[in-house]
Amino acid sequence: MAIVSKDVQFTGEGVQIQWSDGRTCTFPYRYLRLQCACASCIEEMTGRKLLNVASVPSDIIAVEYIPVGKYALQFLWSDGHETGIYPFQMLQRLAEHDPAVVCS
Ligand SMILES: [Zn+2]
Repeated sequence: MAIVSKDVQFTGEGVQIQWSDGRTCTFPYRYLRLQCACASCIEEMTGRKLLNVASVPSDIIAVEYIPVGKYALQFLWSDGHETGIYPFQMLQRLAEHDPAVVCS
């Protein structure tokens, strides 16, 4: 069965997602913003990064989120960016492989 998010909180540390398997993972805000894979951040055909990392404020936070069906979350960032969709699978892959994401 696919693991889905049960709860999303914006904490002092980042975006905290509680998964349906009981794990809770915290994704630091700026880290998560830089993972955005939308068409204005990543060139669709080539996968080339279009996002200028230096343009993302160090104190960026997520201000709102919208569930996208049962497979993803969409975040509204404090820099006004809101087109990024973060599939659960991608978030779980990051949580497993990237030490920046802290899970318990
Ligand atoms: Zn984007």
